Amino acid sequence: MPRIDAPDVPYRGRFAPSPTGPLHFGSLVAAVGSYLDARAAGGTWLLRIEDVDAPRMVKGAAEAMLRTLERLGFAWDGEVEYQSRRTAHYLAAFERLKLAGRVFACACSRREVTDSALGPDGAPRYPGTCRQGLAPGRQARAWRLRVEPGQVCFDDGLQGRLCQDLAAEVGDFVVLRADGCFAYQLAVVVDDAEQGVTQVVRGADLVDSTPRQIFLQQQLGLPRPAYLHLPAAVSAAGEKLSKQTRAAAIDGRPPQAALLDALVFLGQRPPGALAESGVDEIWRWAIANWDRRRLPRCRFANAPAGY
Ligand SMILES: [Zn+2]
Repeated sequence: MPRIDAPDVPYRGRFAPSPTGPLHFGSLVAAVGSYLDARAAGGTWLLRIEDVDAPRMVKGAAEAMLRTLERLGFAWDGEVEYQSRRTAHYLAAFERLKLAGRVFACACSRREVTDSALGPDGAPRYPGTCRQGLAPGRQARAWRLRVEPGQVCFDDGLQGRLCQDLAAEVGDFVVLRADGCFAYQLAVVVDDAEQGVTQVVRGADLVDSTPRQIFLQQQLGLPRPAYLHLPAAVSAAGEKLSKQTRAAAIDGRPPQAALLDALVFLGQRPPGALAESGVDEIWRWAIANWDRRRLPRCRFANAPAGY
Protein backbone atom coordinates (compact mmCIF):
# COMPACT_ATOMS: atom_id res chain seq x y z
CA MET A 1 0.00 0.00 0.00
CA PRO A 2 1.46 3.41 -0.89
CA ARG A 3 2.60 5.65 1.93
CA ILE A 4 0.65 8.83 1.35
CA ASP A 5 2.06 10.78 4.27
CA ALA A 6 5.56 10.49 2.80
CA PRO A 7 7.04 13.90 2.02
CA ASP A 8 7.81 12.96 -1.60
CA VAL A 9 4.13 12.36 -2.41
CA PRO A 10 2.62 15.52 -3.91
CA TYR A 11 -0.19 17.19 -1.99
CA ARG A 12 -3.67 16.56 -3.43
CA GLY A 13 -6.55 18.28 -1.69
CA ARG A 14 -10.19 18.72 -2.54
CA PHE A 15 -13.37 20.62 -1.81
CA ALA A 16 -16.50 18.49 -1.91
CA PRO A 17 -19.72 20.45 -1.36
CA SER A 18 -23.23 18.98 -1.42
CA PRO A 19 -25.48 20.97 -3.76
CA THR A 20 -28.46 21.21 -1.42
CA GLY A 21 -28.68 25.00 -1.81
CA PRO A 22 -26.54 28.06 -2.50
CA LEU A 23 -22.99 28.24 -1.15
CA HIS A 24 -23.19 29.58 2.41
CA PHE A 25 -20.51 30.87 4.76
CA GLY A 26 -19.88 27.42 6.28
CA SER A 27 -19.02 25.89 2.93
CA LEU A 28 -17.06 28.98 1.89
CA VAL A 29 -14.81 28.50 4.94
CA ALA A 30 -14.17 24.87 3.97
CA ALA A 31 -13.46 25.93 0.38
CA VAL A 32 -11.04 28.69 1.41
CA GLY A 33 -9.26 26.54 4.02
CA SER A 34 -8.79 23.55 1.72
CA TYR A 35 -7.75 25.77 -1.20
CA LEU A 36 -5.14 27.73 0.75
CA ASP A 37 -3.72 24.66 2.46
CA ALA A 38 -3.29 22.99 -0.96
CA ARG A 39 -1.93 26.03 -2.81
CA ALA A 40 0.43 27.06 -0.03
CA ALA A 41 1.92 23.55 -0.26
CA GLY A 42 2.21 23.82 -4.05
CA GLY A 43 -0.44 21.12 -4.29
CA THR A 44 -3.41 20.20 -6.44
CA TRP A 45 -6.96 21.21 -5.52
CA LEU A 46 -9.85 19.16 -6.85
CA LEU A 47 -13.53 19.97 -6.88
CA ARG A 48 -16.11 17.26 -6.35
CA ILE A 49 -19.86 17.70 -6.23
CA GLU A 50 -21.29 15.34 -3.62
CA ASP A 51 -24.67 14.70 -5.14
CA VAL A 52 -24.87 11.02 -4.19
CA ASP A 53 -27.87 11.69 -1.94
CA ALA A 54 -30.24 12.21 -4.86
CA PRO A 55 -33.42 12.94 -2.87
CA ARG A 56 -31.77 15.88 -1.06
CA MET A 57 -30.34 17.53 -4.18
CA VAL A 58 -31.73 20.83 -5.42
CA LYS A 59 -31.89 21.25 -9.17
CA GLY A 60 -29.44 23.84 -10.48
CA ALA A 61 -27.67 24.20 -7.11
CA ALA A 62 -24.43 22.59 -8.30
CA GLU A 63 -24.13 24.95 -11.29
CA ALA A 64 -24.91 27.93 -9.06
CA MET A 65 -22.19 26.85 -6.63
CA LEU A 66 -19.62 26.55 -9.42
CA ARG A 67 -20.48 30.06 -10.65
CA THR A 68 -20.12 31.43 -7.11
CA LEU A 69 -16.73 29.75 -6.71
CA GLU A 70 -15.57 31.21 -10.04
CA ARG A 71 -16.74 34.66 -9.07
CA LEU A 72 -14.74 34.31 -5.83
CA GLY A 73 -11.62 33.54 -7.88
CA PHE A 74 -11.18 29.84 -7.04
CA ALA A 75 -9.26 27.92 -9.71
CA TRP A 76 -9.59 24.14 -9.46
CA ASP A 77 -7.47 21.55 -11.19
CA GLY A 78 -8.95 19.21 -13.78
CA GLU A 79 -12.59 18.47 -14.43
CA VAL A 80 -15.25 18.78 -11.76
CA GLU A 81 -16.20 15.30 -10.50
CA TYR A 82 -19.85 14.42 -9.83
CA GLN A 83 -20.72 11.57 -7.48
CA SER A 84 -23.96 11.00 -9.37
CA ARG A 85 -21.86 9.79 -12.33
CA ARG A 86 -19.78 7.40 -10.27
CA THR A 87 -22.31 4.80 -9.15
CA ALA A 88 -20.42 1.97 -10.89
CA HIS A 89 -17.37 2.67 -8.71
CA TYR A 90 -19.43 2.57 -5.50
CA LEU A 91 -21.12 -0.62 -6.64
CA ALA A 92 -17.71 -2.25 -7.26
CA ALA A 93 -16.55 -1.31 -3.75
CA PHE A 94 -19.82 -2.58 -2.28
CA GLU A 95 -19.46 -5.89 -4.13
CA ARG A 96 -15.96 -6.30 -2.67
CA LEU A 97 -17.32 -5.76 0.83
CA LYS A 98 -20.13 -8.21 0.14
CA LEU A 99 -17.78 -10.86 -1.21
CA ALA A 100 -15.65 -10.51 1.92
CA GLY A 101 -18.72 -10.94 4.13
CA ARG A 102 -18.29 -7.44 5.56
CA VAL A 103 -21.85 -6.26 4.90
CA PHE A 104 -25.27 -7.67 5.75
CA ALA A 105 -28.84 -6.95 4.69
CA CYS A 106 -30.93 -5.04 7.21
CA ALA A 107 -34.72 -5.03 7.37
CA CYS A 108 -35.07 -2.37 10.08
CA SER A 109 -37.09 0.73 9.36
CA ARG A 110 -35.75 4.13 10.33
CA ARG A 111 -38.27 4.11 13.16
CA GLU A 112 -37.03 0.80 14.53
CA VAL A 113 -33.44 2.09 14.61
CA THR A 114 -34.45 5.46 16.08
CA ASP A 115 -36.28 3.68 18.88
CA SER A 116 -33.13 1.74 19.80
CA ALA A 117 -30.33 2.74 22.17
CA LEU A 118 -28.72 6.12 21.61
CA GLY A 119 -24.97 6.49 21.22
CA PRO A 120 -23.08 8.99 23.41
CA ASP A 121 -23.68 11.82 20.90
CA GLY A 122 -27.43 11.30 21.02
CA ALA A 123 -27.64 9.77 17.55
CA PRO A 124 -29.30 6.36 17.33
CA ARG A 125 -26.88 3.47 17.51
CA TYR A 126 -27.75 0.45 15.40
CA PRO A 127 -28.40 -2.39 17.87
CA GLY A 128 -27.32 -5.20 15.53
CA THR A 129 -30.82 -6.59 14.98
CA CYS A 130 -30.12 -8.15 11.56
CA ARG A 131 -26.44 -8.96 12.04
CA GLN A 132 -26.98 -12.73 12.15
CA GLY A 133 -29.50 -12.78 9.30
CA LEU A 134 -33.02 -11.55 8.68
CA ALA A 135 -35.87 -12.85 10.79
CA PRO A 136 -38.40 -14.93 8.78
CA GLY A 137 -40.75 -12.80 6.71
CA ARG A 138 -38.57 -9.69 6.93
CA GLN A 139 -37.51 -7.91 3.71
CA ALA A 140 -34.01 -6.55 3.18
CA ARG A 141 -34.02 -2.74 2.96
CA ALA A 142 -30.52 -1.40 3.44
CA TRP A 143 -27.06 -2.95 3.65
CA ARG A 144 -24.85 -2.30 6.65
CA LEU A 145 -21.13 -2.66 7.26
CA ARG A 146 -20.13 -4.76 10.28
CA VAL A 147 -18.05 -2.72 12.68
CA GLU A 148 -15.69 -4.13 15.28
CA PRO A 149 -15.18 -3.21 18.93
CA GLY A 150 -12.15 -1.03 19.67
CA GLN A 151 -11.07 2.53 19.07
CA VAL A 152 -10.54 3.97 15.60
CA CYS A 153 -8.11 6.86 16.06
CA PHE A 154 -6.49 9.49 13.89
CA ASP A 155 -4.32 12.55 14.41
CA ASP A 156 -6.18 15.57 13.12
CA GLY A 157 -4.01 18.36 11.75
CA LEU A 158 -5.82 20.89 13.93
CA GLN A 159 -8.00 19.11 16.51
CA GLY A 160 -5.31 16.68 17.72
CA ARG A 161 -5.80 12.96 18.35
CA LEU A 162 -9.42 11.85 18.02
CA CYS A 163 -10.84 8.39 18.67
CA GLN A 164 -14.20 6.72 18.33
CA ASP A 165 -15.41 3.25 19.26
CA LEU A 166 -17.66 2.51 16.31
CA ALA A 167 -19.31 -0.52 17.90
CA ALA A 168 -20.21 1.41 21.06
CA GLU A 169 -21.04 4.78 19.51
CA VAL A 170 -22.37 4.14 16.00
CA GLY A 171 -23.01 0.46 15.42
CA ASP A 172 -23.02 -1.25 12.03
CA PHE A 173 -23.63 1.58 9.59
CA VAL A 174 -25.45 1.80 6.27
CA VAL A 175 -23.40 1.67 3.06
CA LEU A 176 -26.30 1.01 0.64
CA ARG A 177 -29.53 2.72 1.58
CA ALA A 178 -33.09 1.48 1.39
CA ASP A 179 -33.76 3.93 -1.47
CA GLY A 180 -30.93 2.41 -3.53
CA CYS A 181 -28.47 5.30 -3.05
CA PHE A 182 -24.99 4.50 -1.84
CA ALA A 183 -24.26 6.12 1.49
CA TYR A 184 -22.19 9.28 1.70
CA GLN A 185 -19.52 7.49 3.78
CA LEU A 186 -18.85 4.88 1.09
CA ALA A 187 -18.87 7.38 -1.78
CA VAL A 188 -16.41 9.72 -0.07
CA VAL A 189 -13.95 6.96 0.73
CA VAL A 190 -14.02 5.54 -2.80
CA ASP A 191 -13.67 9.00 -4.37
CA ASP A 192 -10.86 10.20 -2.14
CA ALA A 193 -8.89 7.05 -2.94
CA GLU A 194 -9.52 7.14 -6.70
CA GLN A 195 -8.72 10.84 -6.93
CA GLY A 196 -5.49 10.24 -5.00
CA VAL A 197 -6.43 12.73 -2.27
CA THR A 198 -3.63 12.96 0.30
CA GLN A 199 -5.09 15.68 2.53
CA VAL A 200 -8.71 16.22 3.52
CA VAL A 201 -9.43 19.72 4.86
CA ARG A 202 -13.10 20.18 5.74
CA GLY A 203 -15.45 21.48 8.40
CA ALA A 204 -15.53 19.93 11.85
CA ASP A 205 -19.24 19.26 11.40
CA LEU A 206 -17.96 16.16 9.54
CA VAL A 207 -15.41 15.07 12.13
CA ASP A 208 -17.66 12.36 13.56
CA SER A 209 -17.77 10.73 10.11
CA THR A 210 -14.00 10.36 9.91
CA PRO A 211 -13.63 7.18 12.02
CA ARG A 212 -16.31 5.50 9.86
CA GLN A 213 -14.43 6.55 6.74
CA ILE A 214 -11.12 5.30 8.13
CA PHE A 215 -12.72 1.97 9.03
CA LEU A 216 -14.11 1.70 5.49
CA GLN A 217 -10.66 2.49 4.05
CA GLN A 218 -9.26 -0.36 6.14
CA GLN A 219 -11.98 -2.76 4.97
CA LEU A 220 -11.37 -1.86 1.33
CA GLY A 221 -7.56 -1.76 1.59
CA LEU A 222 -7.43 1.91 0.59
CA PRO A 223 -4.83 4.44 1.73
CA ARG A 224 -5.76 6.89 4.46
CA PRO A 225 -5.39 10.60 3.70
CA ALA A 226 -4.36 13.06 6.40
CA TYR A 227 -7.26 14.98 7.96
CA LEU A 228 -7.67 18.53 9.18
CA HIS A 229 -11.06 19.66 10.45
CA LEU A 230 -11.60 23.41 10.39
CA PRO A 231 -13.95 25.09 12.84
CA ALA A 232 -17.48 24.88 11.46
CA ALA A 233 -19.34 28.19 11.22
CA VAL A 234 -22.49 28.40 13.30
CA SER A 235 -25.10 31.11 13.61
CA ALA A 236 -25.26 33.40 16.66
CA ALA A 237 -27.92 30.98 18.01
CA GLY A 238 -25.34 28.16 17.77
CA GLU A 239 -27.00 26.42 14.84
CA LYS A 240 -25.10 24.93 11.95
CA LEU A 241 -25.39 27.17 8.88
CA SER A 242 -27.52 25.53 6.26
CA LYS A 243 -30.42 26.13 3.99
CA GLN A 244 -32.65 25.27 6.93
CA THR A 245 -31.33 28.15 9.06
CA ARG A 246 -31.76 30.45 6.04
CA ALA A 247 -28.02 31.04 5.86
CA ALA A 248 -27.39 34.00 3.62
CA ALA A 249 -25.99 33.03 0.27
CA ILE A 250 -22.50 34.32 -0.42
CA ASP A 251 -23.77 35.70 -3.71
CA GLY A 252 -25.47 38.59 -1.98
CA ARG A 253 -22.23 40.42 -1.18
CA PRO A 254 -19.02 41.56 -2.87
CA PRO A 255 -16.62 38.63 -3.37
CA GLN A 256 -13.73 40.52 -1.75
CA ALA A 257 -15.72 41.03 1.45
CA ALA A 258 -16.78 37.37 1.62
CA LEU A 259 -13.19 36.16 1.13
CA LEU A 260 -11.81 38.50 3.78
CA ASP A 261 -14.54 37.40 6.23
CA ALA A 262 -13.56 33.76 5.63
CA LEU A 263 -9.85 34.56 6.14
CA VAL A 264 -10.55 36.33 9.44
CA PHE A 265 -12.79 33.46 10.55
CA LEU A 266 -9.85 31.12 9.88
CA GLY A 267 -7.57 33.20 12.11
CA GLN A 268 -5.51 34.63 9.25
CA ARG A 269 -4.68 38.31 9.50
CA PRO A 270 -5.33 40.07 6.22
CA PRO A 271 -4.08 43.68 6.28
CA GLY A 272 -6.84 46.28 6.16
CA ALA A 273 -5.56 47.60 2.84
CA LEU A 274 -6.67 44.35 1.17
CA ALA A 275 -10.27 45.52 1.51
CA GLU A 276 -9.58 47.82 -1.44
CA SER A 277 -8.04 45.01 -3.52
CA GLY A 278 -9.41 42.68 -6.16
CA VAL A 279 -9.90 38.97 -5.55
CA ASP A 280 -6.64 38.05 -7.34
CA GLU A 281 -4.63 40.20 -4.99
CA ILE A 282 -6.44 38.80 -1.96
CA TRP A 283 -5.62 35.26 -3.08
CA ARG A 284 -1.96 36.15 -3.68
CA TRP A 285 -1.70 37.49 -0.16
CA ALA A 286 -3.66 34.62 1.37
CA ILE A 287 -1.59 31.86 -0.30
CA ALA A 288 1.70 33.55 0.59
CA ASN A 289 0.64 34.08 4.20
CA TRP A 290 -1.41 30.95 4.95
CA ASP A 291 -0.56 29.80 8.45
CA ARG A 292 -2.12 26.66 9.90
CA ARG A 293 -0.88 27.64 13.37
CA ARG A 294 -3.32 30.55 13.39
CA LEU A 295 -6.40 28.41 12.83
CA PRO A 296 -8.75 28.53 15.83
CA ARG A 297 -8.53 25.13 17.49
CA CYS A 298 -12.21 24.54 18.09
CA ARG A 299 -15.00 22.59 16.44
CA PHE A 300 -17.50 25.41 16.12
CA ALA A 301 -17.21 29.19 15.90
CA ASN A 302 -19.70 31.96 15.23
CA ALA A 303 -20.01 33.20 11.67
CA PRO A 304 -19.60 36.98 11.32
CA ALA A 305 -22.80 39.00 11.64
CA GLY A 306 -24.94 38.92 8.50
CA TYR A 307 -24.23 35.32 7.47
ZN1 LIG B 1 -31.66 -4.30 10.87
